Amino acid sequence: VTFASLGLAEPILRAIGEAGYTSPTPIQAQAIPQVLAGGDLLAAAQTGTGKTAGFTLPLLHILSQTHAHPHPPGRPRCLILTPTRELAAQVEESVKTYGKHLPLASLVMFGGVNINPQIGALKKRVDILVATPGRLLDHVGQKTVDLSGVEILVLDEADRMLDMGFIRDIRKVLALLPKKRQNLLFSATFSDEIRQLAHGLLHDPATVEV
Ligand code: AMP
Repeated sequence: VTFASLGLAEPILRAIGEAGYTSPTPIQAQAIPQVLAGGDLLAAAQTGTGKTAGFTLPLLHILSQTHAHPHPPGRPRCLILTPTRELAAQVEESVKTYGKHLPLASLVMFGGVNINPQIGALKKRVDILVATPGRLLDHVGQKTVDLSGVEILVLDEADRMLDMGFIRDIRKVLALLPKKRQNLLFSATFSDEIRQLAHGLLHDPATVEV
């Protein structure tokens, strides 16, 4: 399997080449076609498997193929939730790396730092927002972010988000999203709580496991 055979757009293939990747990892080979097909995805994947590119590459492709109308500032088309600020920063770094030849804007926000620079950044166009749940809800409360245009939702390391007690925050965020959207859930482990979350969130999901 090659990245080109998965159907990713040329600017993305170029960025992958520049990152030095020669072929997709198993999770990427399985997940990318499923995400490109537009359905929901339930993926069992540990860190180190290439899971981040597994969701980032196809979502960049999808967003690059269509335009949002309208697309005011602070209204992301894709929301990626992560349990920690470190993971949020890493994921947004990947989005920037793989999306560097695309006209898409990303933003990362997490707690424990001054909220004002994030508020400033939300006055600009943002296509892909990577956030930890608590800080995202702070922005929702201040009306600095508008989640009504989210087309794709990613829950990354969903098991860790539940372990860290984010389930209520996640449910609050879910309630603010449009009903019609694509959902991707990544988790290293599958507890009853994760299955319950997945069951309520995902519609007829494809499952991938590595
Ligand atoms: P992740 O599991 O998403 O944390 O990724 C683990 C590491 O693998 C990261 O440093 C990526 O840059 C790298 N990586 C992801 N996909 C590939 C690939 N197809 N070929 C080589 N390295 C990759």
